[in-house]
Amino acid sequence: MSREMERLARRVREAKTLEEARRVVAPVLARAVSAARRKAAKTKPRRDAEARKRDRAWEEGTKLRELAIGRCEGLCELCGLPPLPLNPLQLAHLDGGSGKRRPRQWIGNVLMAHLLCHQGSLGIDTRPTMWIGAVGLWAARHGYPMPARFQKLEALRKVNE
Ligand SMILES: [Zn+2]
Repeated sequence: MSREMERLARRVREAKTLEEARRVVAPVLARAVSAARRKAAKTKPRRDAEARKRDRAWEEGTKLRELAIGRCEGLCELCGLPPLPLNPLQLAHLDGGSGKRRPRQWIGNVLMAHLLCHQGSLGIDTRPTMWIGAVGLWAARHGYPMPARFQKLEALRKVNE
């Protein structure tokens, strides 16, 4: 314990009333609080920036989802069929990859697809080459360029033929 703290503790012990003890402690508490506030103020802009970035990403994700839901008119954009209770529609990213996913998000890179058309054993995530035609038709219908991943797959398929 520092000398100052020892002196403070003694003055608190020797105080006759609670009020007197409070008066002794008050300036020390005030200094501690203002030091904590200074520290918090220094890191606040950074925290705010991070929070804003998260909010923006979330808003963009929500907006994209809403746009895709509106565009799909209640049907799977890959197979054209309506959803079923055990095979609901979900948002599928055409140019996937966790790190790359966020910056590439735009309405021409996401579509609403059945759970199975998306992530099933024959779905677009598992067997993307099976869906090149469907993605091409979908992109042409909406005036989007073929998503980069499917352009590459298409090029590879042509080389192999
Ligand atoms: Zn489907």
